Amino acid sequence: MKLKFQIMNRRNFIKTTSVVAGAYAIIEPAVFANFNMQAEETWFNRPMRWAQLTLVENDPGKFDPDFWLGYFKQIHADGATLSAGGIVAYYPTNVPLHHRSDWLANSDPFGYLVEGCRKMNMSVLARSDPHAARQNVYDAHPDWIAVTANGEKRRHWANKDLWVTCALGPYNFEFMTQVHSEIMERYQPDGIFSNRWAGSGICYCEHCKTNFKDYSGLDLPLNSNPIDKTFQKYSEWNTIRLKELWTLWDGVIRKVKPASRFIPNGFPDKVITGQLSDIVFTDHQARSGATMPWSNGKGAKEIRASIGMKPLGGIFSVGVEEQYRWKDSVQTEAEIRVWVAEGTANGMRPWFTKFSGVLYDKRWLDIVDKIYQVHYRNESYLRNTAPLARVGMVFSDGNRNYGSEKWQQKSGDHSLGMYHALIEDRTPFEMVNDRLLDQEHLKPFKLLILPNIAALSTEKCAQLRKFVESGGSLLATFETSLYDEAGIRRNDFGLTDLFGVSFDKSVEGPMQNSYLRLKKDAALNQFHPVLKDLEDAYRIINTINMVNVIPRSSFPEPVTLIPTYPDLPMEDVYPRIPETNIRELYLRSIGKSRIAYFPGDIDRTFWQIMSADHGKLLRNTIRWALDEEPIAEVTGPGVIDVTVWQQEASMTVHMVNLTNPMMIKGPFRELIPVAAKVTIKIPQGRKVGGIKLLVSDEKAIFDVREDKIFVSVPKILDYEIIGIDLS
Ligand SMILES: [Zn+2]
Repeated sequence: MKLKFQIMNRRNFIKTTSVVAGAYAIIEPAVFANFNMQAEETWFNRPMRWAQLTLVENDPGKFDPDFWLGYFKQIHADGATLSAGGIVAYYPTNVPLHHRSDWLANSDPFGYLVEGCRKMNMSVLARSDPHAARQNVYDAHPDWIAVTANGEKRRHWANKDLWVTCALGPYNFEFMTQVHSEIMERYQPDGIFSNRWAGSGICYCEHCKTNFKDYSGLDLPLNSNPIDKTFQKYSEWNTIRLKELWTLWDGVIRKVKPASRFIPNGFPDKVITGQLSDIVFTDHQARSGATMPWSNGKGAKEIRASIGMKPLGGIFSVGVEEQYRWKDSVQTEAEIRVWVAEGTANGMRPWFTKFSGVLYDKRWLDIVDKIYQVHYRNESYLRNTAPLARVGMVFSDGNRNYGSEKWQQKSGDHSLGMYHALIEDRTPFEMVNDRLLDQEHLKPFKLLILPNIAALSTEKCAQLRKFVESGGSLLATFETSLYDEAGIRRNDFGLTDLFGVSFDKSVEGPMQNSYLRLKKDAALNQFHPVLKDLEDAYRIINTINMVNVIPRSSFPEPVTLIPTYPDLPMEDVYPRIPETNIRELYLRSIGKSRIAYFPGDIDRTFWQIMSADHGKLLRNTIRWALDEEPIAEVTGPGVIDVTVWQQEASMTVHMVNLTNPMMIKGPFRELIPVAAKVTIKIPQGRKVGGIKLLVSDEKAIFDVREDKIFVSVPKILDYEIIGIDLS
């Protein structure tokens, strides 16, 4: 592993400027440093557009590899992932028990495609899938097969002819190591990408039982309850074991070709992913059910929080991704375009995946072509060096120690609600991993948002205090910092000194028919900025739950509690206590920092109820706490996800148009254009050259006044990028 870290540390660290309390400027802290290693040893940053062809067993001899190579060329794909081995070998393997496709005969479709891609100067990843095996494997090595909690060997859930393999035993550690070694020796791909390599739930085979016992002294957990202590121990062991496997395969691969890598399709720990990877791909292929269209961008932001600016690919399906798994289907053009745009706007490089070399429904070919042509034409504006967001939203990465009280159910909704509020406000923001709150990681941000980040160690609280001391602002909700990292409730908030309030021993809720009184500051005779556009409301609905707190300092009173009163019979529906001085939003300034604390679960309530009033209150409070002009402000109708990036000689403002009746439940049927006016702050010390609308490929109508650019965007269909040349 030593070698790997030496190579990784050769990143090009550009001078960093601390700007937390000052004006916004181009910044490039190490976490977002451009991944820029010596060309001869790395290929990772080169491919911008990926193509994945996953062959099915009867493809050899039936599908036309030249059609695919021609398509890759047409769409300017510069990276390919091609089926090689695992469940089925698409080359003439000599590894015993490695099943050659029954249709392979004397052919080598994998080798043919690799050669074709190489001629086009594409990077090539070999795809392996170790999660299932045939009867002959079972017969030769019954201990390679996964076992259920009842002690039975696991049949494959989707194909009864196959057996599910154990990911943490000799099947992967020995057999698949041989397979990967053979693929490397014969074809020297740039890496091996393994699908479903990390197991299919807890395996109770003899190896797993013994190995887990040796590690923990415990028997394997019988459930996957995240707050169960044995399951937590299992998760820890599972991660360690998978890291060993990653290291083993990566070592075998590099031995043959030092620049090649093992690339896991997913790993349970994002921080370790950031440490071990040189290139990362996320596998969130499409929407299903009520997935928000911004979910693809959220995935990109969450992984970037630990991988920084290492190249990140976003795998997308051209088909329907629902529970009945129509893997060979084709999705609407509008849906694919918005999904991919969300990825690109959030710093991912597109990677389409298609199953089956023989095509039935070909409608997707044109759609992907159109998306990739725009991407190719604008490639230099998509080679980002850093995001320019000044707002960071903290998320809990692998926090399994919180959630058994009734008001702690659906705790993921806090983060979803806050995310959606930021999208509606069009705030450019990044996600921040709650395990990475050191100064280096927080340096780009002026405001950190903590949407019920309940479990925070004393060390993390100290890091947040340091952030505030250097001028950073905080916005926190509900039980933030009330628990330690082990899930033990503290007597008081870990951040009580910053919030200026103490925990008053209880959480109230669910509260029926309770309200928030909004009022003017009596002494100043004016409304606080957090009440903008709510001046005429008098009161709005309350949150569903709230933490009872005691203020330890003096606070303004823009938002106070109107307690629950009967909601039936109608004759009884009148407030028993019309007004209190119990604040539901605590606002204070400490030096250059602003601190906003909501004792209520306003973010989760926003996700569940979607009250526009809560959206406004969150928006205003975020802006008050940020206390600086946004980098980019987009006005006009609709729902638009806005991100801002810098490149070597330019900056970009991405706008993904989510305005659609099918926003909350896909798929989109059609794209509905909106127009926008955009105000952009020019980075300090830079001069503006040309400005272009990159997606529509038109010159922009713009004005430069003082330190701002004013751009008119007449039509955003699904996606527009303002590209600004800087000198
Ligand atoms: Zn096992």
